[in-house]
Amino acid sequence: MKIGAMLSDVTYSLFRKPITQQYPKTRQEAPARLRGYLEWNPEKCTGCGICAMDCPANAIEMIVIDKKEKQFVLRYHVDRCIFCAQCVHSCMHGCLKMRFDVWELATLDKEHFTALFGDEDDIEQVLAESA
Ligand code: SF4
Ligand code: SF4
Repeated sequence: MKIGAMLSDVTYSLFRKPITQQYPKTRQEAPARLRGYLEWNPEKCTGCGICAMDCPANAIEMIVIDKKEKQFVLRYHVDRCIFCAQCVHSCMHGCLKMRFDVWELATLDKEHFTALFGDEDDIEQVLAESA
């Protein structure tokens, strides 16, 4: 590189505004296609378990309490999830999506890495059975 070109690059870098963002003080909105935290809408769920079967990271457990009564609990292991969205594509009923606005998932508490989705009573039943 010629010395003139180098000096011009140095001068440009010295006086331009910093590109670095002061995260977490400033937060940019995440792009809509970002794959963040999993969300489950149980309305059309049949409890088929295909999402869990197709998950390459074993991050989903579909717990069927009563299929007829549509009592399902989805256990999501956030720490295993590789955010591939395979489960979203596999669900034929569109029950799953990956939130673009929930992506700051770091935590000091390991408990936060496991989430239970479903009806409160059903979740309680699952927790009682696994205690
Ligand atoms: S995004 Fe991928 S790794 Fe995460 S739960 Fe869905 S299928 Fe599993
Ligand atoms: S694939 Fe869809 S319908 Fe089947 S258990 Fe998973 S979320 Fe429910």
